[in-house]
Amino acid sequence: MKQDIIKYDENIYQIDVFMENKPGRMSCYYIDSTNPILIEVGPSNSFPYLISSLESLGINEVKRSAMTHLHLDHIGGIGHLVEKYKEHFVYIHELGLKHLPNPEKLWKAVSEVYTEEWLSTNWGEIKPTPINNLRSLKDKELIDLGNGRKLEAIYGPGHAKHHYTFYDEYSKTLFMGDTLGLIYPHGNFVQPNLPPPDFNKEVLFNTLDELYTLDLKYVALAHYGIHKNPYQLIINAKENIELWIDFVTKLPNLSINEATESLQIWLSENYRILGVDEETINNYVNNGNFKMQIQGIKKYLHID
Ligand SMILES: [Zn+2]
Repeated sequence: MKQDIIKYDENIYQIDVFMENKPGRMSCYYIDSTNPILIEVGPSNSFPYLISSLESLGINEVKRSAMTHLHLDHIGGIGHLVEKYKEHFVYIHELGLKHLPNPEKLWKAVSEVYTEEWLSTNWGEIKPTPINNLRSLKDKELIDLGNGRKLEAIYGPGHAKHHYTFYDEYSKTLFMGDTLGLIYPHGNFVQPNLPPPDFNKEVLFNTLDELYTLDLKYVALAHYGIHKNPYQLIINAKENIELWIDFVTKLPNLSINEATESLQIWLSENYRILGVDEETINNYVNNGNFKMQIQGIKKYLHID
């Protein structure tokens, strides 16, 4: 089975889980400290890739994991994880304790954005997780990684109201989930990721401003990878979110599909001006879920 694993400082592994069978779309992380932890599991369909990568590293048992938020591209495989590792437990926002033992409601809510058919085919169905395998997080909670190393859970809403980021002070790495946005590997700019119903600019900017004050060497994104210019990327994310909101605010009265197309065209033109190559532009345009972005921004602006 295909694998792409990169080892960073202080035993941090970046694992490509080949979301939608494509490379560079979703990364999970494994901190191989004295008391190790997995960060994110990825969608259901990616679970075999995650397991084969962990096993290739000689990791045959994972005792615990931490999830950034309740979106299915991050937690879809959670039922598989607790089924495979019997004593496994998962740190997650408290809403996870409500939804994950009976994920039907979560599935239905996400289906309304993506359609059920798309979800089943591309991410796969979610299995229930027994409540005993779940632990709710508190803001600033310290998860023990052994030998004095701690992972701090920082509540960070804005992208989703159930979002945590995880800060490893020892390696100065911040595991961002989707708080920052998308970077399809190059590390030069961030593409906003602003889904309904929770995207809120002020809330997200408060989160990003708080994270900016941390002592950072790396940011680790879910989509995608570890980057070495954290402060520049946080500033760029905020600038681009402002530009997107401004663009949507100034759109004439268009249907949702027309607005989606306008955003895609405007963005591709901007990327060309920035000198981005066509392959990278296609990667963003084909994987940006622009309809969802329009819906998220319009909901935030109360013009949906
Ligand atoms: Zn995501």
